[in-house]
Amino acid sequence: MQVYKFGGASIATPERMAALLPIIQEATQPIIMVVSALGKTTNALEDIVSAACKGDKEKAHDMARKLEQIHLDYAKTLLNTENFAKAEKALNVFFTELQWAIDDAEAAKYDYSYDQIVCMGELLSTRIFGFYLQQEGLNFEWADVRDVVRTDETFRDARVDWNYSETQAKQKLGTLLSQGKSIVTQGFIGATADNASVTLGREGSDYTAAMLAAMLGATGVTIWKDVEGLQNADPKLFPNTVKIEAITYHEVIEMAYYGAQVIHPKTIKPLQNNGIPLYVRCFLNKDLKGTVIQNEVNSIFYPPLIVLKQKQILLQVTTRDFSFVTEDNLSNLYSIFHKLKIKVNLIQNAAISFVACIDHKEDQIQALVTELEKDYKVFRNEDVSLLTIRHYTPEILFEMTKGKYTLLEQKTRQTVQVVMK
Ligand code: ASP
Ligand code: MG
Repeated sequence: MQVYKFGGASIATPERMAALLPIIQEATQPIIMVVSALGKTTNALEDIVSAACKGDKEKAHDMARKLEQIHLDYAKTLLNTENFAKAEKALNVFFTELQWAIDDAEAAKYDYSYDQIVCMGELLSTRIFGFYLQQEGLNFEWADVRDVVRTDETFRDARVDWNYSETQAKQKLGTLLSQGKSIVTQGFIGATADNASVTLGREGSDYTAAMLAAMLGATGVTIWKDVEGLQNADPKLFPNTVKIEAITYHEVIEMAYYGAQVIHPKTIKPLQNNGIPLYVRCFLNKDLKGTVIQNEVNSIFYPPLIVLKQKQILLQVTTRDFSFVTEDNLSNLYSIFHKLKIKVNLIQNAAISFVACIDHKEDQIQALVTELEKDYKVFRNEDVSLLTIRHYTPEILFEMTKGKYTLLEQKTRQTVQVVMK
């Protein structure tokens, strides 16, 4: 059994959804299809939450009606009259739930309200997808993942009760699979013991796919994207990226740690623990090979893997009494970062100073500087970038830092990091 994850971009239009059919038909065993909301629906739902929680219910309902119409028009394009009639009925149930959730929303329970509203995106998209696959004669079943994925009540970032969910997955989904049926279900959402809907954090569908794969012993997970596979750098920032054929989970975790937006670390863990390979493939051309991520890869040759973090600030912290920055000062400094929940992207310390490179979020930085200035002097260096290159060569380092002013450089055998302006 395999898990296929289809993200919002792969179903952004009815044409795109229809184009997934050959991909699905090519699977030789039953598959679980974990599906996101259509296109940018989640963003639209977030706007509805904001309006509803501000008390502007009229505006929220207005926006919801627009979103409903988009889903109906989408379904109409894809489905014949008979199936559209069925889909309309099924979608109406969720439209009604959405209206109730808007009426019920309030600022005092923002995160809860968010989840009751935002979960609708995946429910609507999978309903439409289900009716389309039914029309095309596929042997499958639509499942509400909220009957499977049980979580705590941390709304917007719910933690999965793994044991309970695994039992449910085996019972509810495993049975269908053993009957030879494929499954269409939602990513990103789940439910509490009291049956409140929850979300698992933005971009959480990949995590759902990994979770179900691990619970049901899948032989692989494929994430279908609009790119050919993983690239060695963000193509939006660099012109000449190359595709990576194969890469280890370890390497992907390293890249994510340095700030690459590749695959969410939550997704990687269940797959890595269970030795399940993750394929990244292109829904625009299913014949391209894509990238495979697994525990071991044959070739240990990687191209330089480049991560650029922009909008950074470099803080130089100096002791007021010229005391050395040793264990006591360090532990004090670390505890301040820890208390304010600030992630430091790069650290270096010297005799009487300590340097930290951090994401520049002004309110966070102000709180931090206020705290630090009780004991230290603080100098700020703004508008800097943090460049990280794994598997660097002198040539690529030269190339990437050409014309820049280097404020700080740290090298290990495999990784170089440069704070530059
Ligand atoms: N639809 C959700 C989002 O946009 C979940 C996902 O697509 O992974 O964040
Ligand atoms: Mg997505």
